[in-house]
Amino acid sequence: MATTVEQKRTTDDHEVAEDDVLNALRRIIDPDLHRDIVQLGFVKHLRVCGGGVAFDIELTTPACPVKAQMESQAREFVGALPGVSQVNVTMTSQVRSHFTEDREYLASVKNVIAVASGKGGVGKSTVAANLALALAKTGAAVGLMDADVYGPSVPIMMGVSERPEVSVDQKILPLENHGLKLMSIGFLADDRAPIIWRGPMVGKLLQQFMSDVAWGDLDYLVMDLPPGTGDAQLTLCQTATLSGAVIVTTPQEVALEDVTRAIRMFEKVNVPVLGIVENMSYYVCSHCGHREEVFLHGGGQRAAETLGVPFLGEIPLDPQICLGGDNGVPIVAGNPESPQTAAFFEIAGRVAASLSTLAMEESQGGGDSRGEPLLRIVS
Ligand code: ADP
Repeated sequence: MATTVEQKRTTDDHEVAEDDVLNALRRIIDPDLHRDIVQLGFVKHLRVCGGGVAFDIELTTPACPVKAQMESQAREFVGALPGVSQVNVTMTSQVRSHFTEDREYLASVKNVIAVASGKGGVGKSTVAANLALALAKTGAAVGLMDADVYGPSVPIMMGVSERPEVSVDQKILPLENHGLKLMSIGFLADDRAPIIWRGPMVGKLLQQFMSDVAWGDLDYLVMDLPPGTGDAQLTLCQTATLSGAVIVTTPQEVALEDVTRAIRMFEKVNVPVLGIVENMSYYVCSHCGHREEVFLHGGGQRAAETLGVPFLGEIPLDPQICLGGDNGVPIVAGNPESPQTAAFFEIAGRVAASLSTLAMEESQGGGDSRGEPLLRIVS
């Protein structure tokens, strides 16, 4: 519009008021934290020079699902202010932790995510590995701990088989691949003979993985739990300092039973359930792109609704996902542009957003900013 151009021309020489910039940015609301980004303290290093405005937006996670939207809104709202000729937005992040007290284990890890399932073979390890990779690809520092003592799959899935080294201060150094720090019983076992693991032994091993592995500073540690909800799993959840749990299931109706058991287990140890992932949910024909719902698609979503926990997303049944895991290059690492990878990124964004919400609530002395508990059991 002619008047806008005219207005810009006449006000270009005047300094834009910082308050006006902040007021424009107050229009951007964080959908998970339900407050504007100025109130949340996300706007940092605001500089105004003539018609040029520059600032950082510091998010609580680099995996924020609305990062691009916030950036474009910031450009648009500030750019529309009279006198503004240039807007420089830098998106940064500082992952928050909900742990407020000193911890015996994993003190340098901000968030510990358990990935669990009611039974084996549903793709728990596949989800754990790809979730960890998706978080790391956003720029977070991430580790993957294979606590699945009954069937450690991290060595094969991540393409790593060396034996970890021990540092001078007697810490086990995690192995690294695809940008993740990795630890698995599979790296340490001498032979492939099955080991009979009882609850206390599992707890002890996990304790060692937490206390004796030099994880270093991590934003997220993803823990691949053994399948099932028995004593060993319960001990493990009691031993670990967990931030939240992700439950993986398949679409069949029986999912409800498995998921309920898994939720009850986390309820016993006071760990919030971040949500449910439905794996092997649908199949997309590689020739015609037709989406075929396999089994009884939607069981995971229905279980989430019935049990009152968030639904985090669905992953297709896809040969590439299987092949990636078998070849040591999970799909998120091997095919970052694929729709299957996009599904994992969506889930990672939701998990990270839930953890940010937990951390924010904790910093404000508990309570839930959404007015809804993360874990609500309907019995
Ligand atoms: P769990 O940890 O629950 O026992 P895994 O992650 O080891 O399950 O997966 C079991 C098998 O199913 C593996 O061979 C894996 O590659 C395959 N798989 C998992 N998810 C998918 C998927 N979405 N599409 C195709 N194959 C999958």
